[in-house]
Amino acid sequence: MNPKRQDKYKAIWMSHSSLQDYEKCPRLYYLHNIYKDKKTGRKINIASPYTTLGIAVHNVLEALVNYKTEDRIKQDLLANYEKEWSKFSSSISGFDNEEQEKEFKERGRRMLQNVMSNYRVLSLKTIPLSSYYDGDMLPNYYISEEENIILCGNIDWIEYADASKSLNVIDFKTGKNEEKEDSLQLPIYKLLLTNLQNKWKVNNGYYWYLDNDSFVEKELPESLLKNTKTKIIKTGTEIRDKRFVWNESRGAWENVTEVEKNFTCSNGEYCDCKKYEKILKGEATYLGIDMYGKDSYKI
Ligand code: SF4
Repeated sequence: MNPKRQDKYKAIWMSHSSLQDYEKCPRLYYLHNIYKDKKTGRKINIASPYTTLGIAVHNVLEALVNYKTEDRIKQDLLANYEKEWSKFSSSISGFDNEEQEKEFKERGRRMLQNVMSNYRVLSLKTIPLSSYYDGDMLPNYYISEEENIILCGNIDWIEYADASKSLNVIDFKTGKNEEKEDSLQLPIYKLLLTNLQNKWKVNNGYYWYLDNDSFVEKELPESLLKNTKTKIIKTGTEIRDKRFVWNESRGAWENVTEVEKNFTCSNGEYCDCKKYEKILKGEATYLGIDMYGKDSYKI
């Protein structure tokens, strides 16, 4: 038997969000992660005020990594936020009206005011995530070469703890809801960061809820990482078998035909797909191409 050849273009790229999509429903995963409009060749996305708010606040905070630790505190986050916000033309930001946009923008301002009154980890040493980018690909590593599965992710902030010469991962939260207790987001980030470098040990992770400035530590023991890895490979293999087949004689992964049929409705109870189905039926309003190069729609 040929050893299975790694092929990044036919690999299954697993991330926290794609894993969540698939666990909710295979068809939702298909619509969000695979489907491309035949005319434009682009993936589709649903514009939302929450996403716009999240991106603007994250961009302001993540840009601080480019400054020396002692200079971060001197930055005018609110002025930077104005600039970030202005990049979102209201036509593709998903707001219903000016009043709603004002309300969301104000929420973001309050979050940044919270940060400015307590910079916490932002004024400590950090490692820029950009050091782990692979060209224009998100930081990633082969979590299973045999199964052709890659783990990728975008860690908001990596703190370098001088005393212990180790790293902490921090995730900024701009939503109202707390991350679920059994969320795999931070275990996935620790797994990723541990495999992207071997210079430093990676410690626990933190969620920083910016709305109420609460900073929540999560323990990430080895047993949890082991279970997370097993789950990613198991789910990734299931997805791969629906998308690609190994051709023994050619020694290559090949596309399965009629992939869509393999990603079916799981139970009809979780129905986020309805919004995507509206796009497919031509019932949504096309807004334009978003910053990720996807066709953006308003439902
Ligand atoms: S109706 Fe619900 S369960 Fe069915 S495909 Fe849509 S999201 Fe999935």
